[in-house]
Amino acid sequence: MEIWQKKLRESLVDPEELAARFKVDAEPLKKVCAIYPLRITPHYLDLIREPGDPLWRQVVPDVRELDSHDRDQDPLNEEGFSPLPGIVHRYGDRVLFLVAGHCAAYCRFCTRKRLVGRTRVSFAEVMAGIAYIASTPAVRDVLLSGGDPLLMEDRLLQDILARLRRIPHVEIIRIGTRLPVTLPERITENLCTVLKKFHPLFINTHFNHPVEITPEAAEACARLADAGIPLGNQTVLLRGVNDSAEILAELFRKLLQIRVRPYYLHQMDLTAGTDHFRTSVDSGLEIMAALRGTLSGLGIPTYVIDLPGGKGKVPILPDYVQSKGTEIVLRSPCGDLVSYPNCVE
Ligand SMILES: *Cc1c(COP(=O)(O)O)cnc(C)c1O
Repeated sequence: MEIWQKKLRESLVDPEELAARFKVDAEPLKKVCAIYPLRITPHYLDLIREPGDPLWRQVVPDVRELDSHDRDQDPLNEEGFSPLPGIVHRYGDRVLFLVAGHCAAYCRFCTRKRLVGRTRVSFAEVMAGIAYIASTPAVRDVLLSGGDPLLMEDRLLQDILARLRRIPHVEIIRIGTRLPVTLPERITENLCTVLKKFHPLFINTHFNHPVEITPEAAEACARLADAGIPLGNQTVLLRGVNDSAEILAELFRKLLQIRVRPYYLHQMDLTAGTDHFRTSVDSGLEIMAALRGTLSGLGIPTYVIDLPGGKGKVPILPDYVQSKGTEIVLRSPCGDLVSYPNCVE
């Protein structure tokens, strides 16, 4: 067994054990775990300082998950855009391909809370998904997600990637993974040797807080970057975790230092059981305005709302345009109003 597999097995899954470790009441934890699973890797558990800190909030069950639990489980209507299990085909040229049902650690704010950790993905389903992609020439970009695709063993991952690469119209492959953050041991030399056979291959990882950028996570990202894999990051804007310009500026600066480019800052989806993490869109816009001008443009992600009903992701920006006519009046990052000719003679 490899080290990462051993670490995965040592993950904390028992609410009683979690309660004992941090000296908190086990009953609320148990109630939530009866519905949504718990798993925290040894690496991530070691980063939690005390109950209620930003890392605790991301992975420790909260009774508030039960408040809205009977509401919409699938606000992005992924099921409606799913021609077969595991495939979400919402944009013509791209498919989301859910190849794994599990994660190394379960994020309490997960947008796919209805599935992840509660369902299995069979090999037959994955093969049917590949057949769908092969028979759909419009698909140029395949986004492997789940669950966490890198929890598959190297051999299975290699097999799936090789089958996708054999499809002539598949131009790029993307993998969404949180393992550099939660299980950095998984990013082995051997994994990188497998991945780099299938370029152009992009990875988007998922750091939400600067404390998550540990030496181990930095090494994991360095190994991936050294294998020629462009690294992006998707951050979710989370109340009480990272909803301040200072925290996010530090996170994005540190990500650039480990060669990870901030890609999206996600406004929370309306998933049942996650209301307590939601911030106002206005506070997100204020944060974006504060970042512009204080942070390298490379470090500024696009702030997006994934529209309810599966209508797609839209970028939202602070209002830089004050008025529009023959002159366009723009607000500078310091707040000055500056006019620029709108018409070309
Ligand atoms: C987010 C998403 C994608 C990828 O969108 P990009 O903007 O290209 O990163 C593709 N399919 C689905 C269903 C998605 O939710």
